[in-house]
Amino acid sequence: MKIGVLASQGAFIEHIAKLRELGVEAVPVRLPEELEGLDGLIIPGGESTSIGRLMRDYRLTQAIRDKVKDGMPVFGTCAGMILMARKSSDANFESLGLMDITVRRNAFGRQRESFETELDVSVLDEKPFPGVFIRAPLIEKVNGTVEVLARLADGTIVAVRDGKMLALAFHPELTDDPRFHQYFLDMVSGRE
Ligand code: GLN
Repeated sequence: MKIGVLASQGAFIEHIAKLRELGVEAVPVRLPEELEGLDGLIIPGGESTSIGRLMRDYRLTQAIRDKVKDGMPVFGTCAGMILMARKSSDANFESLGLMDITVRRNAFGRQRESFETELDVSVLDEKPFPGVFIRAPLIEKVNGTVEVLARLADGTIVAVRDGKMLALAFHPELTDDPRFHQYFLDMVSGRE
């Protein structure tokens, strides 16, 4: 199995390391031709405006949309989730518009700019997942076939799946818990 990690900007090295720990081939993607032959793609956290602009400049935006339309599974974390969303409350860049969710960027304000909290995740085992939130977005609305996988204690939606697409408001690649990466690999292989 070969998984690409969009490497325009942001926390792509950590995702590559996690995938390699799980024994799969992981490659950075900076150009459209590097999407060829991938079984799945991760879009990391970082700065969604920068990633969005770099994707556009390197002609990746449409290339990724086309691959996803052809069935390539995709996993976005934090800024990656913002880029996957069809709507964002503050989008001054072109998003991929892949998932029918509305997100709000930098949603937790100055007081809670970054925080860690345990999350109960419907598709993982009993053990709570360490949610690492860094200037995180939240999911305001989910539409259609989008399934909610986790919420904060106050009900805020922070993890969703739609078919072969997975999106999280937090950073599993910055923890030592591999379960969300494994879950994505199981989605790719059709086990989930
Ligand atoms: N605040 C960033 C944005 O709006 C996302 C932060 C992150 O990916 N950790 O793009």
